[in-house]
Amino acid sequence: MTTAPVPAEPAAPVPVAAPTPDAAPAAPAAWMRRATVDLAAYRANLASLIERVAPVELLAIVKADAYSLGVDVMVPEALSVGVRWFGTVESEPALRLRRAGVGDEASFFAWQLAPDEDWAAAVELRVDLGVSTLEQLEAFADAARAAGPGHEALVHLTIDTGLHREGCLPADWAALVTRAVELRDEGVVRLRGCFSHVSETSEADDHAASLVFRKALDDAEALGATFEKRHMSSSSAALEHPERRFDMVRMGSNGYGNPVTEGVTAADRGLRQVLTLSARVVRVKRVPAGTGVSYDYTWRAERDTTLALVPLGYADGVSRRAQHGAEVTIHGRRHPIVGRVAMDQFLVDVGDHEVAVGDEVVLFGPGDDGELTIGEWADRTGSVPEEVSCRIGARVPRVYVGGRS
Ligand SMILES: *Cc1c(COP(=O)(O)O)cnc(C)c1O
Repeated sequence: MTTAPVPAEPAAPVPVAAPTPDAAPAAPAAWMRRATVDLAAYRANLASLIERVAPVELLAIVKADAYSLGVDVMVPEALSVGVRWFGTVESEPALRLRRAGVGDEASFFAWQLAPDEDWAAAVELRVDLGVSTLEQLEAFADAARAAGPGHEALVHLTIDTGLHREGCLPADWAALVTRAVELRDEGVVRLRGCFSHVSETSEADDHAASLVFRKALDDAEALGATFEKRHMSSSSAALEHPERRFDMVRMGSNGYGNPVTEGVTAADRGLRQVLTLSARVVRVKRVPAGTGVSYDYTWRAERDTTLALVPLGYADGVSRRAQHGAEVTIHGRRHPIVGRVAMDQFLVDVGDHEVAVGDEVVLFGPGDDGELTIGEWADRTGSVPEEVSCRIGARVPRVYVGGRS
């Protein structure tokens, strides 16, 4: 037999009467781990952003279940402060929200389309689609024609300005625009928008992309197309380059209070981070110097110390890289993550500090109590705030504070 490492005990729900901060659900799952979503901060961020970009329209990006915070909750909050455009990437969430009667007064925009897209539903439910090819354009127009008079395909012609994801290559642009204009004249297509997305590689690259976009707009105009909303900028460009706002800007990260520009904090942007990831200590152990912890014993105590077990792991979105420099706060004091992050838990070295089962452990939050922000957490785990947000696992209950609108 070898000395194969023995996995840590699974963290069982601990039946203690927890201190109950507001909105703490009773379920053990939410006692152990939670993603707290500050709806008041989300509303305030959006209201402030709307004001800053006015009269340009703000489209709130709510893709990937609103960066995993819960699209069904976030959209009504955004509506309550006046957001009237939403971006969902694929059409399914938009169709579902429409069917549920959410945002009847708003527009939903999707741009990642499948060959067997439900074009008829998009027509019927007035979902705007980003169209990159003639095939998509014809299919969408066919659905509008089939739906009968009064029905239109709400089209955003999509130009590839260098990102090489969706979008029509400049060489094919004239053909796409020409056909869109014919279909508009037939009454089955409405030219709602012209859309692109940029790489954010460098100022020079984004400038070049914006010139491609401007040329595409000029060429389209020469072919008889006018668009209600021209849009190419997401969070960073929308604030840093007013000249690239055109008629609408698409903001995800800014709304969630996670600036994506390196070195820029939420406070620098007048924003507040919406998301806090926390858990509770489920086990405390005093161990002697030399103790190896977690899988592979990648860390050993240099002196007698106290370890706190935290019931969050990579299944919950805590990267295995977190052991190399990420810190959590307990009682407002920072402590390092030590040893391997497991699927369901990790360990914290709290030294000689008093820590008890039930104490709150904050991985990241707005920074009020000395905790890392999501941007700092991302830096220390080789990621970006959007990825950290999206990867929070389904097992972590989303707990909404700050009042529903
Ligand atoms: C994700 C996305 C956005 C939002 O980006 P943020 O940096 O989070 O604001 C905007 N536009 C498109 C096309 C996107 O895919």
